[in-house]
This record gives sequence, C-alpha cells and structure tokens, in this order.
Amino acid sequence: MPEGHSIHRLARQFRDVFAGEPLRVSSPQGRFADGARRLDGATLVDARAHGKHLFLDFDVDLVMRVHLGLYGAWSFGGDETFRGASSIGAPRRMGETETFDRAATPGPDDGGAPAYSGPPEPVGQVRARLVSAHGWADLRGPSACEVITPGEAAAVVARLGPDPLVAGTGPGEFLERVTRRSVALGQLLMDQAVLSGVGNIYRAESLFRAGLDPWLPGRRLGAADGVRLWEDLAGLMADGVRVGRIITTEPEHRDAVDPDGEPAPLWPDNAHYVYQRDGLDCRVCGTAVRVTQMQARNLFWCPGCQAP
Ligand SMILES: [Zn+2]
Repeated sequence: MPEGHSIHRLARQFRDVFAGEPLRVSSPQGRFADGARRLDGATLVDARAHGKHLFLDFDVDLVMRVHLGLYGAWSFGGDETFRGASSIGAPRRMGETETFDRAATPGPDDGGAPAYSGPPEPVGQVRARLVSAHGWADLRGPSACEVITPGEAAAVVARLGPDPLVAGTGPGEFLERVTRRSVALGQLLMDQAVLSGVGNIYRAESLFRAGLDPWLPGRRLGAADGVRLWEDLAGLMADGVRVGRIITTEPEHRDAVDPDGEPAPLWPDNAHYVYQRDGLDCRVCGTAVRVTQMQARNLFWCPGCQAP
C-alpha cells in the first residue's frame, strides 16, 4: 500500500496538472458512473491529502475521495505542458517507483515521439478517468472512490489521526491519541485513527531511528520520546514527498560496497535500516535484524538497538 508521502505527491501532481481546469470525468469501467456524472465538466479547485486519502475539490461543492488501498494506482499522460506525468500507487505491483510514460507524454528530447492527440483507449478496469485539454489521469483498482460533500470530507478527516505532512500539525494530538492506548506502539503507528499516512516502512524505520521497542505500550511512551518520534517521522515523510522514495539511512550508516564488492547504490541497497533486512547485520550495532508478525503484517526491528 502506498504510504502517505505518495498520496501527498499525488495531490501535488493533481494541483500541478489539473487545478483551475474544467475536467471531463468518466468511468470507462462503469462502477463510478454515477459519481463521474456529478463531476463531469466541473473545474478542479484544489487537491489535498490526509494520510492515505486523496481529496479532489471541485467548484460544484463536491469532493472526489479516493483511497488506493492495496492495489489502486493512478496513471497520467498528456502533452508537453502536462508536467510531472507519472504513475503512482500500488507498490506491490509496480515497485516503490513512479514511472514516466514517455510514449504518452513526449518531452522536449523525444523528437520522434508522436504528438499528443488525447487520452488512449482505456486499458483494463479504469474506475475513473479525468481529462483536461492537456492530459488525462486514469484510476484503477482503488479501495474507495466516491463523490461526497465538503462537510462529509471534513468528517472523514476528523475521524483520522493527525498527518505529519499536513502543514501546521504538531505532535500534541498524536501524543494524546497514543498515550491513552495500552496496545503496542508498533501497532498504534499503523492505526490510521492514531496517526495518518504511516505504513509498514515508515513504521519500522521510525521506531528503529528512535531506538524504541515496538512492543512498548502506547501509554508508556514518554512525552520527549513521542515528540522526537513525531518530528523524525515528519522529516522522513517530507523527504519522501520530495524524492518519491522512502530513504531513512544516514550517510555514515550506508554500505560502500555490496556483497559482490561492487559499489552499493543508495537505492534500494542502502535505503533502510531494518525494513526487509531480516537476517542481515544491523547497520548500527551489528545484531541480526529480526522480522515477526504484528497484526498480520511483517514488523522488522533490531533487538540490539530497540531493546525494551
Ligand atoms: Zn542495532
């Protein structure tokens, strides 16, 4: 499932390429036909994210809410003015990457690429298609895609925990929501009612960086540790929005060479401390990194650095 930084990148993408433009909205697959009819022809005013929810605000006092879930993804294409066209979502299927559709979006260096002549025929189960004069966006496989009122959108946000990527959000509400629970901190970080946008990678990496035991009960998290955890997450996630990847290691903890003696690239070999590094030596203390199940999801941690 894409983590919160991917959804904030999506919101930025929608603002960049569609804001201020009237959009044709359709549902080639048919499952979003009623919602598409209510939005068709309206102008996109803003796009914003809260955690893993994307909200597209239209000038007809309606909001399109999308949650990609495990398998959802957006793809984009358009003419040379349609900047940042990419495909974002479903890392299980597409890797933690965003791919630029060169064929659909000729850049200045693609002299031989065909000129943009409108969106291609829909491929596969396209739940929603948004089209402007300059480009298109296709949504496939979301767990939620609906048209709601601004009031209903506000109610969705109110039920969610604070998102470190939403400007002006401090650690207060996070601390309050964590410390009234007795379940494990590692479980609370993934609970979208406690904290919005954190998935398995940010969970594992932020707990490691903070030196926190994943099984620490939420109510026993000290205020100083909680503030430090929140601020570290906010920084890591902002980096994720900027570069489009989750990279949590400090330069001094990265391997210079890989097991074959070749120079080790930052991505993916050197990107993480514990995530998917079970059995490898901890980059900081040398203890073997472990993996276990917490709430049916893999939890990676270092027993040396994150001792109770
Ligand atoms: Zn360690």
